[in-house]
Amino acid sequence: MVELEAKSISKAYFLAHENRCIVAVQKLDFTLHVGEFVSIVGPSGCGKSTLLRLFAGFETPNSGSVFHRGDAVLSPHHSRSFIPQDSGLFAWLSIEENVMLPLHCSTLSYDQKREKALLCMEKTGIASFAKAYPRELSGGMKQRAALSRALAMESQLILMDEPFSALDEVSREVIDEAMQHFFSENRMSVVLVTHSIREALLLSDRVVIMQGLPGRISDVIIPRTPKEKRHKSAEIETLYKQIVERLKSHV
Ligand code: ADP
Ligand code: MG
Repeated sequence: MVELEAKSISKAYFLAHENRCIVAVQKLDFTLHVGEFVSIVGPSGCGKSTLLRLFAGFETPNSGSVFHRGDAVLSPHHSRSFIPQDSGLFAWLSIEENVMLPLHCSTLSYDQKREKALLCMEKTGIASFAKAYPRELSGGMKQRAALSRALAMESQLILMDEPFSALDEVSREVIDEAMQHFFSENRMSVVLVTHSIREALLLSDRVVIMQGLPGRISDVIIPRTPKEKRHKSAEIETLYKQIVERLKSHV
C-alpha cells in the first residue's frame, strides 16, 4: 500500500532581489510505502526542505501533484506530522500540554486526553518529563516529545527535517535506536532529511540522494543488510563511501 506519492512535482521560487526564478524541485517523482523509512541526503540548498514542505502540504507545487493515501495533498493535515529541526514545541506549554495539543479538538474528556498523552509519552520514554517545559529538556528529549505529539495526532506519516543535527553523536545514536523500534512498532511511515549519511544508512529502507539546483533525485540506495545487523556491516561501509563519492562528484 502506498503512503505518499509525488508525481512529477516542481517548485520554483522567485528571488525578487535578483529578479529571477530558481527551481528548488524539478519534475520529481517519489513513492513511499506504508511502514517504509526513507532518508533523503544531499548538499545544502538542493531542495530537501522544500520537498518535505511539499509533502506536508505547507507548500503547493507549481506543477505535478502529491497524494497521501490516495488523497491530493492541498494543505497540512493531522495525518501528516512535520517535525522541524527545533522540534516545534511551544515553549510556554509543558511537555504534557504540548502532547495534548492535537487532542483539543477531539470529543475526549480532559482526563481521557491526559491519559492518551501519557501513553504517547510512555512510548517514547519521556513520561517522567510530562510537567517539564521544553527549555528544561535536552535536544534528544525534545525530539521524543515531538514524536509523542505526532503519536497523539495519530499521524500515519512522519516528515522530519534534520531533527537530530543539533545532537552530539552519542545522544544521536541512542535516539536513532529508540526511533527505529518506535516507528516499526507503530507501523509509521517516515521520510527523514538528514546530513548524516551514516544515520540514513543505519535507519532506512531506502536512501534517496538529491542534487541541486534544480533539485532532483540522482540516486537511490537500498541497503540489503537487515537493520539490526547494520552497525558493523561491511556493506554499509561500502555504501557510505559510494554515497560520499557521488555527492563529491557534484560539488
Ligand atoms: P535544502 O533543505 O536542501 O538545504 P531548501 O529546500 O531549503 O534546500 O532550498 C532549496 C533552494 O530554494 C535554495 O536555493 C533556497 O535558497 C531556495 N528557497 C527555499 N525556500 C525559499 C523561499 N521561501 N523563497 C525563496 N527561495 C527559497
Ligand atoms: Mg533544509
